[in-house]
Amino acid sequence: MNDLHRTAHCGSILNFHADPGLDGDPASYDHWQRGALVVAGGRIEAVGPAAALLPAVSAHMPVIDHGERLIMPGFIDTHIHYPQTDVIASAGRNLLDWLEHYTFPAEQLFADAAHAREVAEFFLDELLRNGTTTAQVLGTVHRQSVDTFFQAAEARGLRMIAGKTLMDRNCPQPLRDSVAGGERDMRELIETWHGRDRLHYAITPRFAATSSVEQLQGAGRLAQQYPDVFIHSHLAENRDEVSWVRQLFPDSRSYLDVYDRCGLLRDRATYAHCIYLDATDRARMAASGAGAAFAPSANLYLGSGLFDIAASDAAGMRFALATDVGGGSSFSMLRTMADAYKVAQLSNQQLSPLRAFYLATLAGARMLGLSDRIGRFAPGTEADFIVLDPKATPLLARRTAQSRSLSELLLVLMTLADDRAVAATYILGEPQELP
Ligand SMILES: [Zn+2]
Repeated sequence: MNDLHRTAHCGSILNFHADPGLDGDPASYDHWQRGALVVAGGRIEAVGPAAALLPAVSAHMPVIDHGERLIMPGFIDTHIHYPQTDVIASAGRNLLDWLEHYTFPAEQLFADAAHAREVAEFFLDELLRNGTTTAQVLGTVHRQSVDTFFQAAEARGLRMIAGKTLMDRNCPQPLRDSVAGGERDMRELIETWHGRDRLHYAITPRFAATSSVEQLQGAGRLAQQYPDVFIHSHLAENRDEVSWVRQLFPDSRSYLDVYDRCGLLRDRATYAHCIYLDATDRARMAASGAGAAFAPSANLYLGSGLFDIAASDAAGMRFALATDVGGGSSFSMLRTMADAYKVAQLSNQQLSPLRAFYLATLAGARMLGLSDRIGRFAPGTEADFIVLDPKATPLLARRTAQSRSLSELLLVLMTLADDRAVAATYILGEPQELP
């Protein structure tokens, strides 16, 4: 590789290898106060302490010095709705009220391709501004909402997962598809987009209450035909929703069991929320390989409930963080970490700052089956990374100046920082220019 195409980034580098757990296991991550990240052809070539690494790789390579700023893999948001960008901060009393009064009307606007394109571009700018480099994204019921989203993501070279929502009942008529129509759209979208550049398709029933059993079974058959396609839905977010699903599917043991019977539990399946699960459900989630998107901001904003970190750990269940905009009230994974910390506090549980940063990066990559490409720095992984400025605001500068350890610095960042602290977002080694 010509040195002109190689760049070294120097700064404070944080890189996880595994879950740091409650105590911040030192073997689970590397942190170099003065580290170097060598990028070549959009991929990571090497990472390590600058003093040892730089002389070994080249004398002539351009070096970008980020000073004391923190260089780390980009955030991974495992559950977010791009069509809900404009309903963020709307006053729903609870999940079902909020869907009816804000979300469903907003989603109907995506029948218009020009509207979808404008929102998709704004949404992607906002993700990158917040340091989120990969997300698992719901579209609307309209096939073109996903075509439009993928076109916008492809033009920016982003690694993104998306799918059209399936809804054939219990929603407004303009947002309703059919078993056959939904399946035809999904097949066409998978054939067009899945595996193209850095894009992946997710089979996306909105949730059990808005799909007939025939539609869920069809989604399960498709998931079997395309084993590397993702599955993405909602599960056990709110008590009224859980009782409604119980009425709609009286033969199922639990809400989770509805999906299980339809063949929708496997690796690369993500269920958002997973608040009202019992021990049998959690064991089944763990055994199946499916994971939970823990969306604390949305859970607090809609008053849904508290995700049980300890019970999920005890069951060996996979989970990672998600914003769930627009139920979630911020695009920022830093704000989301702050909310996750508070959810743990309210549950008399613990979330260490190291683990919070892990849950916002490598945990998501692992849950999505993408950790060979994103979520960590290793030779050959994709150079999607961010630079966080611990001095981005006067209060951050004052407080981080007094931090005595990496853990303390991370706790201050996740408690006080937001998009203002994201000094740069790199995609495949290229800095992103944002409006
Ligand atoms: Zn959601």
